[in-house]
Amino acid sequence: MSEKTQSVLPILLKELRLPTMLRYWQDFSEKATLEGWPPTDYLRVLCEHEVENRTDRRLSRRITESKIPRGKSLESFDFSACQSLNKSHINALASGDAWIKSGMNLLIFGPSGVGKTHIAVAIAEQLLFNGFKVLFTRTTELVQKLQAAKQRLELSSFLGKLDKYDCLILDDFGYVKKDQLETNVLFELISERYERRSLIITCNQPFQEWDQIFEDKTMALAAVDRLVHHGTILEMNEQSYRKKTALNRCNSVGQKKEAEKKG
Ligand code: ADP
Ligand code: MG
Repeated sequence: MSEKTQSVLPILLKELRLPTMLRYWQDFSEKATLEGWPPTDYLRVLCEHEVENRTDRRLSRRITESKIPRGKSLESFDFSACQSLNKSHINALASGDAWIKSGMNLLIFGPSGVGKTHIAVAIAEQLLFNGFKVLFTRTTELVQKLQAAKQRLELSSFLGKLDKYDCLILDDFGYVKKDQLETNVLFELISERYERRSLIITCNQPFQEWDQIFEDKTMALAAVDRLVHHGTILEMNEQSYRKKTALNRCNSVGQKKEAEKKG
């Protein structure tokens, strides 16, 4: 290798923002010389590493940006403890192709502790792996931000920023205050994304009780209408997983004590 290549190539690779090629060009150069690779093979291998690392970096950036809680994956979701969900249906939703591309919604209902947030996050994580952009939000926090943007007369640009996400998760939708200002911005968000960009909503209250969320009954109906029109509904009518695992723990401690007494 010429002295010029030795000194100039690192500068050029840096200038071209090719960090992986910069890191490996010397290692592969030695390997290529040793094994007699044609120059084109050397270039290909370096480019392959750059592309692979770039894809990994993009994915980890997208995961961080999505703010999804970690540790709630499909692998860690126990389907046998949740009779109301069908594993293949969830896997199909997690692939995202059909419904995300056509801006459809996913609505997850059920009482507290049944795994609504877990399954929403698990699906979102797979969507990220499949190349979609996702943002996880607690509905109350997002509503605060929407309201603040509205006060600054910047609501439409804020909604525009949310447009870059193929899927927005509104966790605990039912915790929004029954307040005209709060529900107005929430309705604007739903209308803005209607038929274009997807929402995943988790909610403790069934639709029949949404007039407890929206002060205006007509608005409640209009919101439901838009969400259901292109929506899949998952009803998780289960016993709380938290409660079940706590009971199991108590039972096994009880059994152990019983056995100790007998033994
Ligand atoms: P919800 O959102 O319905 O209130 P969560 O998703 O927060 O419930 O679930 C409560 C806890 O139980 C979480 O730690 C979650 O990971 C766990 N959990 C719920 N359902 C399951 C399940 N089927 N398999 C594994 N963990 C579960
Ligand atoms: Mg939850």
